[in-house]
Amino acid sequence: MKYKRILLKLSGEALQGSSKSTNIDTSILEQYCAEIKLLKDQGVEIAIVIGGGNIFRGGQAEALGIDRVQGDYMGMLATVINAMALQSSLERHGMYTRLMAGIKMEQVCEPFIRRRAIRHLEKGRIVIFGAGIGNPYFTTDSTASLRAIEVQADVVLKGTRVDGVYTKDPEKYPDAVRYKTLSFQEAYEKNLNIMDMTAFTLCMENKLPIIVFDMNTKGNLLKVVKGEEAGTLIS
Ligand code: UDP
Repeated sequence: MKYKRILLKLSGEALQGSSKSTNIDTSILEQYCAEIKLLKDQGVEIAIVIGGGNIFRGGQAEALGIDRVQGDYMGMLATVINAMALQSSLERHGMYTRLMAGIKMEQVCEPFIRRRAIRHLEKGRIVIFGAGIGNPYFTTDSTASLRAIEVQADVVLKGTRVDGVYTKDPEKYPDAVRYKTLSFQEAYEKNLNIMDMTAFTLCMENKLPIIVFDMNTKGNLLKVVKGEEAGTLIS
């Protein structure tokens, strides 16, 4: 395995599946757990951040007459709902997990304590970080970068529905070309939308590589962690 401790970022929106008929499509969760289990079986230490966009995003708040900060907290709570669903699925697949949140909610999860998170990882537990970093005006991408740095992960793996970073939007332009590797500087200069700027800068300044890859292709997550070419590596 090229990477021994990883931080996997999953978007909330992906949990809806293509039909979008439900907020949480359990078949997607099952599929994710099967992929994650392949890593666990190889002894990889796994931390996960999952978004909340399938339920609520702070950016939607103002149009609904809700204060932005209130909306951001609603978004953070949405991530906890997804994290709890993911936790249940992982445990059903026989993995040990801990859910740690950036907002105190002791009936359902532990508070985020860095040393404790590292200890859980060392003991082989999958650690899910819920409720973002606990502050408004941030995203779960920023949470992923920050927590990855805090727990000394080797890489941030951003699981998406496209297989990497392209010269232009591959869903609109058939002639778009995928980058296999990119430097942080190149990605910045070309204004490639890999993560929001806060998240991206945190990785760049701390020399934490990011891999954008397709989470929906079977076996891809394991491939990426082995260091095989799949997706785009930004370093
Ligand atoms: N959020 C926040 N602070 C954080 C993390 C998340 O305020 O540290 C809020 C923000 O409103 C965001 C929402 O939670 O829109 C859901 O997260 P995100 O949009 O990143 O989810 P994703 O797009 O990955 O599903």
